[in-house]
Amino acid sequence: MTLDQSTQEIVDASHILAAEDILDAFGHVSRRSPTRSDRFLMSRSLAPALVTTDDIVELDFDGTCVSDPSARVFLERFIHSEIYRSRPDVAAIVHSHALSVIPFTVLDAAPVRPVFHMCGFLHGAPAPFDLADHAGPASDLLVRDPRLGAALADHLGAAAIVLMRGHGFTAVGDGVAQATYRAIYAAKNCTVQSAAMAMGTPLYLTGPEAEACDRAVTSQLDRAWDLWRKALGREK
Ligand SMILES: [Zn+2]
Repeated sequence: MTLDQSTQEIVDASHILAAEDILDAFGHVSRRSPTRSDRFLMSRSLAPALVTTDDIVELDFDGTCVSDPSARVFLERFIHSEIYRSRPDVAAIVHSHALSVIPFTVLDAAPVRPVFHMCGFLHGAPAPFDLADHAGPASDLLVRDPRLGAALADHLGAAAIVLMRGHGFTAVGDGVAQATYRAIYAAKNCTVQSAAMAMGTPLYLTGPEAEACDRAVTSQLDRAWDLWRKALGREK
């Protein structure tokens, strides 16, 4: 994949996730650089629906914008830099404050679990990350520096997603399509799980079911990505 293609992917994912209500004025998408595994691409600080290819900048793992030192960058870029540093398998990341997920970040008694076959990737998600454990009881809940980013990355471990108490969630993938898919379907799962919990005690996917479902869905990711891009008016 070229740098231009990677840049376009971030723009497309930003617009898709805004259209799907996963990102609003806030939240962001990034992708590991296709030319340097120790750098990543994301937009400058901007609402995702407004992002164009001209807004994509390159950052290093210290969170420094190397392509344009004067660019205004996201406060929470350390979510991305530290996950890329600790997870060589991760090629793309979405950070979101989607409302359907928030209740699951604040209730110990209601962990997010895969409730239907499109969401097997949620199996193994850790308990919500609590920034207060690392920043004390008076923080603004933002991952503002490398130390907090590293704590979040450590909490994520080998999982596909980490919920963040009173804040939102971060989903990772082996590419922009997978990270986008996981962000969208994490929110859908939370909507369905909330409805099921209101009606009774849900029967969740078993671990082996979740893993089998995730493999099946992962092989079909192009179908979703092509549909979402078409809805934006992009050529196939
Ligand atoms: Zn955030």
